[in-house]
Order: sequence, then C-alpha cells, then structure tokens
Amino acid sequence: MRDRLNEMKAGADPGQITVPLHFLLTIVQFRTPKTVSELMIFRDTSFFVCPQCGITLEREFMNYCDRCGQCLDWKNYKNPRIVYPGSSGPRSE
Ligand SMILES: [Zn+2]
Repeated sequence: MRDRLNEMKAGADPGQITVPLHFLLTIVQFRTPKTVSELMIFRDTSFFVCPQCGITLEREFMNYCDRCGQCLDWKNYKNPRIVYPGSSGPRSE
C-alpha cells in the first residue's frame, strides 16, 4: 500500500499538491462510503464488520464506524459475506 502511494505521488504534478497526498487520500477514503459486506457470526449473536478497520459494529445502520470513522454504506446488508471470529477482522483483545 505504501509503495503504491509513493508511485502515485511520483506521478503527480508537484505544483498541484498543497497537502501531503497520503493525507488527502486518507480523507477521501474515509469520507467515501464503504459498503458493509461482512457479517460476523458469534455463538448467539452476530455483528456487521467495518470494511475499513475490521472491527464489529455495535449497531446496524450506523453512518460511521465508531472506531475508525469510516463512512459506511449499508446497501449490501441483506447479502453479507458470513465470517467467523478468528477467520478475519479483529483479533480478540
Ligand atoms: Zn472502522
């Protein structure tokens, strides 16, 4: 990811850049809704998973992840990919 950012930075016109490009990309990335597409199944409950940071979301249909601030898009909530704790996403703390 970091290499790719450097490539993009090298290809851009330096005269056009007034803020660090990686900073700008981060803002764009977090303000652009990401589709929530994974539902993590626990023994007696389930939680949707933040597509950005991989934590389980406390509530459905939150506009933003409360952990990383990622803007969330729920258009695909009826067809989530089912995941299980430990297979991906957050590690138990
Ligand atoms: Zn998040």
